[in-house]
Amino acid sequence: MNKQYFPLTPVLHPWIKEHIADAERLRDYIQQHGSPVNLHHSTPFEENMMAYQRIFEKYGLRHCVYFARKANKSLAFATQSASLNQGVDTASFRELDQCLKAGIAPEKLLLTGAVKNERLLTLAIENQVTIAVDNQDELDSIQTIAARLRTKSLINIRLGGFSFAGQPLHSRFGFTPSQAEPLIRNLPETHPDVCYTGLHFHLNGYSIEQRVCAIEQSVLLIDELKKHGIDTRSLDMGGGFLINYLQSETEWKEFHHALREAVLENRPEITYANDPLGLIRIADKLYGNPQVYPYFNTVNKASFLEKILTAPSKIYKCPLFELLRERKIEIRMEPGRSLLDQAGCTIAKVAFRKKDTQGNLLIGLEMNRTQLRSSSADFLLDPIHIPQDKTTDGDECYGYLVGAYCLEQEFLLKRKLHFEQFPQIGDLFIFPNTAGYMMHFFESEAHLFKLAKNIME
Ligand SMILES: *Cc1c(COP(=O)(O)O)cnc(C)c1O
Repeated sequence: MNKQYFPLTPVLHPWIKEHIADAERLRDYIQQHGSPVNLHHSTPFEENMMAYQRIFEKYGLRHCVYFARKANKSLAFATQSASLNQGVDTASFRELDQCLKAGIAPEKLLLTGAVKNERLLTLAIENQVTIAVDNQDELDSIQTIAARLRTKSLINIRLGGFSFAGQPLHSRFGFTPSQAEPLIRNLPETHPDVCYTGLHFHLNGYSIEQRVCAIEQSVLLIDELKKHGIDTRSLDMGGGFLINYLQSETEWKEFHHALREAVLENRPEITYANDPLGLIRIADKLYGNPQVYPYFNTVNKASFLEKILTAPSKIYKCPLFELLRERKIEIRMEPGRSLLDQAGCTIAKVAFRKKDTQGNLLIGLEMNRTQLRSSSADFLLDPIHIPQDKTTDGDECYGYLVGAYCLEQEFLLKRKLHFEQFPQIGDLFIFPNTAGYMMHFFESEAHLFKLAKNIME
């Protein structure tokens, strides 16, 4: 009844399985580049891209997929997207500048960053890269720069605050549809060097229903603009397409059940110091939910997209794809994480084993917490232990993986893990499926540690 450990078995692409079966190459990488190493592979990226395109083609939609670069820093995925005849969504000067210098065509680039300074806007305008406009100050700045450069700037208007279940969807980003309508209509007078080409949104969270509402309300706005003779060429539904990291729904549910029981102290802890991962306990009741990514999803990537496109519009009484197809609107998306599903993993080397003051086994790895980190309270996938020598007698144990920053809370994973054999110094661990956000988004150089090397296979 009181199991010590709840497995969360990751889905593994064949290329990772090959490495696990023959770890010699991984050891070479660590030898050559130090620990940890971020290993990338181009095959899953292409497979993910093709799967999205097949859905758009199935419904006869003009489309373009813009890879959201912020999810992984490697330029290779950006150029791969372009070589598959798709685009890249950029959000900073260096993201955009690298893509331009790599020869990616400006019409395959978007600029959507949250804060765009004058230097960044100038780069986009000079190169005729479409800018997703978030606010009035940005729009005014674009007009000023375009006029100075004696050119036109291509813009999309970012929408937010769609109505959903009778309430506006709160967002810090964009204009509401009712603000956007007069703004776009008046552009020729107010911002004569700005050329409106389309609408854009990116929703927080992973709700299909919210995306359906956002598309429907965007089409309403597109139809309203059309009445005033204004054409909308594209509609961009942003990113946030779910992926599935785990093999077993049962494991996922059992972990959550055990976590709740542990936090209520009805069973021994399954996270370090009984970390609630964002659950809140007051007296003997739990509130809220663990603040973690939904790692198990039966509907994900292409099937998630298909659910959105085939959902019925309550307003127009037809499926969404028909709305888009009839109007010949180019539908765009900006997936980051989901294009990177299975496209990378992180390898790190064991430096020490010890017990903490309470007798918990700690395995120290040559890496730090920022090299395996997203906004999720924990990365809920079992890492894979690659021993140097496979022993036959097992010597299984339970423990935690800790990292190199000098903080009490420096745990690479908060979950208690199971090791089939006692880890030895020099053994490796693979953290699978880390290319989306985990390896790069929060990586830092505290203690002057160098950032991890990135390798593309
Ligand atoms: C972060 C972001 C994306 C990518 O989101 P994913 O969840 O990685 O698919 C796309 N567009 C914008 C504007 C973003 O901020």
